[in-house]
Amino acid sequence: MSASWQRKLADGRIVLVDGGTGSELVRRGFRLSELAWSGLASASNQHLLTEIHADFIRAGAEVITTNTFGTARFVLESAGRGSEFRAINERAVRAAFAAREATGADVAVAGSISCVPPGLDLDAYPDPDTEARDYRELAELLAELGVDLLVLEMMQDDEHAVRACEAAARVGLPLWLGLSCRLGADGRSLVGFDYPEIPLETTLAALLVFEPAVVTVMHTPPEAVEPALAAVGSLWSGPVGAYPVLDTDAPDGGRTPPVLSPAGLAEHAARWLDAGARVLGGCCGASPHHIRALREVALGYGDGSPGDQPR
Ligand SMILES: [Zn+2]
Repeated sequence: MSASWQRKLADGRIVLVDGGTGSELVRRGFRLSELAWSGLASASNQHLLTEIHADFIRAGAEVITTNTFGTARFVLESAGRGSEFRAINERAVRAAFAAREATGADVAVAGSISCVPPGLDLDAYPDPDTEARDYRELAELLAELGVDLLVLEMMQDDEHAVRACEAAARVGLPLWLGLSCRLGADGRSLVGFDYPEIPLETTLAALLVFEPAVVTVMHTPPEAVEPALAAVGSLWSGPVGAYPVLDTDAPDGGRTPPVLSPAGLAEHAARWLDAGARVLGGCCGASPHHIRALREVALGYGDGSPGDQPR
């Protein structure tokens, strides 16, 4: 159990999160499921997952995210693995705890919940009651297993994201609200990453009622992060953060090269700190090298100890 991130943010200090667990799994040989992404890795590759979490911790991450982005029951059911709901999520959380133990670092474990439909197919959502029940089931299980906080990821609409946030808010753990957006066709407006018809402001207004502890701009292309931080700041005065997307699926089942090197991400991150961000990390495509570069930025920013130096 770690609450260091709360104390640091209250003091206006920087908190580092991890990078892309799914993309790192791919880099290390795991093939993502088209329906549940990295969700099934917890069943088959728990040790690899622990290694990845530990590498992010050693790079400087102070909050690591469980591999439960694609493990709500309806997502697992779409991949024919619904009956393993509990086992898969238990293994995902255990992998994160094992990395914390192995490194001896004071890190928080964030239970990830998303509301992206299986294979990004909007027709694959179950009926609203089932969908809401499945988010509640996941949030309650993550809390029961002992995660320190819940992180809502890929929030980008005012319907499915509301259901996910509502479910997460009920369990009483601190919530991080992760908004995923991109620049719209006009090059200025901010819209849902996968839903260009939904303005970021609409999503944000619908989700702030769940009283997050932190609002992050995540899985968002680097060029959209600064405007998104400004948009968030116009409606929200609490802690903000950024962990952008750096790669995407490659046709061969792998990943494209990251759009920013560790040094490139560090350069952007310095501007995000100037814009008020106090949580930094990476999403898809961000490796432990990227997180290490962010650690240097944090140190250079006068933040004396972004995390105890792990073993
Ligand atoms: Zn991502």
